[in-house]
Amino acid sequence: MSVNIENYKKIAEYLSEQKVGLVAVSKIKPVSDIRELYDLGQMDFGENYVQELVEKEAVLPKDIRWHFIGHLQSNKVKYIAPFVHLIQGVDSEKLLKEINKQAAKNNRIINVLLQMHIASEETKFGLDEAELHAVLDNVEQYQNVKILGLMGMASFSDDEKQVRKEFANLKSYFEALKNKASANITPEILSMGMSGDYKMAIEEGSNMVRIGSLLFGARV
Ligand SMILES: *Cc1c(COP(=O)(O)O)cnc(C)c1O
Repeated sequence: MSVNIENYKKIAEYLSEQKVGLVAVSKIKPVSDIRELYDLGQMDFGENYVQELVEKEAVLPKDIRWHFIGHLQSNKVKYIAPFVHLIQGVDSEKLLKEINKQAAKNNRIINVLLQMHIASEETKFGLDEAELHAVLDNVEQYQNVKILGLMGMASFSDDEKQVRKEFANLKSYFEALKNKASANITPEILSMGMSGDYKMAIEEGSNMVRIGSLLFGARV
């Protein structure tokens, strides 16, 4: 048994008091683990790998809300377009355009978050402020996507000041986005915070956290 039920109950209760959404990040973990949390009432799960997500979706209950949380390659959007609930981590207009195309093919609107690059590390994906504005300026032509907000990952660091500064930075982009609300920009979700930093993220304004290892144990 790798699912930490006690942690789940504690965290879920804390988050519901704070009115913060929980995405249980189940990447690399077996469907039996997902089932366990689903049976306790968890509806939102996050996955990073397209193939894995498609396989899990096929065998798990249809009312699960699947979040794609990692870097998504444009050529793989078509596999998740029929069912994905929220694509977190849209980091280019090219990807947004492809999501729009596949959403139209499936006769639906796909909800997305734009991913901002807030960490000091070079390696993390995401848009900078200028790129964000460039995408927003063109968004009107993508009528089959709806931008629900922003997502970001802070630096992997013990420097609390630095991490808080990055979260606060993302929060300020989110506040600015609220002034750009339009037909397909509905800023509601600020997704920031993972196992190691979710409490800080909430203090800095997050309303959705993505937690894996605290719930499912470390990934090997
Ligand atoms: C893996 C992952 C998480 C969860 O990480 P934990 O530290 O296990 O909570 C959250 N967000 C993204 C984008 C991830 O890839």
